[in-house]
Formats: sequence, structure tokens, C-alpha cells
Amino acid sequence: MNKERKLIIAGNWKMNKTVAEALALVKGLKLELTNVREVDIVVCPPFTALAEVSKAILDSDLRLGAQNMSEHNFGAFTGEIAAGHLKEFFVRYVILGHSERRQHQKESDELIAKKARAAHAAALRPIVCVGETLAEREGGLMEKVLETQVRGSLAGLTSEQMGETILAYEPVWAIGTGRTATAAQAQEAHAFLRGRLAAMFDAGLARRVRIQYGGSVKPSNARELMEQPDVDGALVGGAALDVRSFSDIIKNSI
Ligand code: PEP
Repeated sequence: MNKERKLIIAGNWKMNKTVAEALALVKGLKLELTNVREVDIVVCPPFTALAEVSKAILDSDLRLGAQNMSEHNFGAFTGEIAAGHLKEFFVRYVILGHSERRQHQKESDELIAKKARAAHAAALRPIVCVGETLAEREGGLMEKVLETQVRGSLAGLTSEQMGETILAYEPVWAIGTGRTATAAQAQEAHAFLRGRLAAMFDAGLARRVRIQYGGSVKPSNARELMEQPDVDGALVGGAALDVRSFSDIIKNSI
């Protein structure tokens, strides 16, 4: 597939996989995905499996991501994980502002922006998630919600930092529901987001930023989604927990 930007496909394992299960999954992915150069492939295990997965993928093209981090540096923040902890395991990406954290941990755009700045300060690349709920979409508020989220969650990033940030459009109604946005719906939202980036930064930078789609991506719908001009990859939840489905998503996207 001929794309303007290199595809980036990341697996968000959420609160799944023991260390043994995580190792079995990456072992399978390594076998399936040797010599895939067209796509940046990222796995985001739970914190508890980062150390072992990090060692297991050293000799592969898989890259490591985390699912969250603190906005603070090392210190008295019980139960939190600092960017410095992630760096110990050669983590390169960190998912920030996932809708599950926005919902359950009440993460605000302001907090997500602080985390994004902290990630960049540690040379980690944030994958910043935005997306509207079904009620917001049906109420005609999609653009307003996305605009508020991008402005708030990316606040204070320099152009250079934005260039190293990945944006993930994840309509909340499509996450874990089996209900995928149509390719046209995804393209419309991605084009809107790219337009907002152009307004906040500049058009040249907006053209370089990769925007992932997330929400019930499967082997059967990956290709059509990735063919959209403004869709530059995927953030995959459920289908990333299985060697066959995650590797087929990647193979079908090339
Ligand atoms: C996600 O959690 O980021 C996600 C997109 O989940 P799923 O693929 O299961 O919808």
C-alpha cells in the first residue's frame, strides 16, 4: 500500500496477559512478522510484563509501548510509574488519554497534556487518544469534542514534540464493541483532526503527524481503513491479544 506516512500499528493489551502469556504472544508475533519493514509495530503490555517482553523483542523489529505513565518525575507518588521507569525497559511509546482512563480514572485533557510533555521530556513518544461518545456523535458534537480534546491534550507541545507525537482517533462507541467506524467515518474524523493540527501548528507539520484509528479493528476491516488517505495506522485492543489476528491486521495493511 502506498502511504504518505509510514503506518504505525500498536497493540494495546490493556489489563490482560500474565508474563508467561505475554512472552508466548510476542514469540508468536516475532515468528509471524519477520521482515515487515513497511509498518512500525508496537506492543503495549501491562507494566508487569514490560521487563520480560523488552528482553524478548530485543532481536526483532517489534517496539515496546506502555499504556500510561505519571505526569510526575520520580518521587512520592504511591502506585504511579514514571517515564524514567519506562526508559529502563527501552519503552519508546506511551499511550496517553485512552478513553478507558478518561472514563474510569477521570483523566482530563489538562492532565493528558502534562503527561505528554513529561513523555517528551524523557524522549518517549506519546500516542494521544481522542474520540467522541455515541451520544456526542448523535448530538452532532463530534467536531466540537475532538477540537476540545486535541487543543487540551496537546497543549504546550512544541512543533518538534508534536512531530514525534502520534494521535489516535478512537471513537468511544467503537472500542471493544465490535462496532467499527466505517472507512468514510474514520477518514472524515482524521481529516478534521489533521485540519485542527494545521491550525494549531502548521500545515507542513500536520501533514507529517501520524493519526491512528482505533475501535474494533480486525483483520477483515484493516485494509479498507488503512487505505484512507488520512489513516496512518491502528491502535488495536481485543484483536491484539491473539497472534493470528494481530499479525493478520498488519499483513492485511501492507
Ligand atoms: C483500544 O482499546 O484502544 C481499542 C481500540 O480496543 P478494541 O480494538 O478492542 O476496540
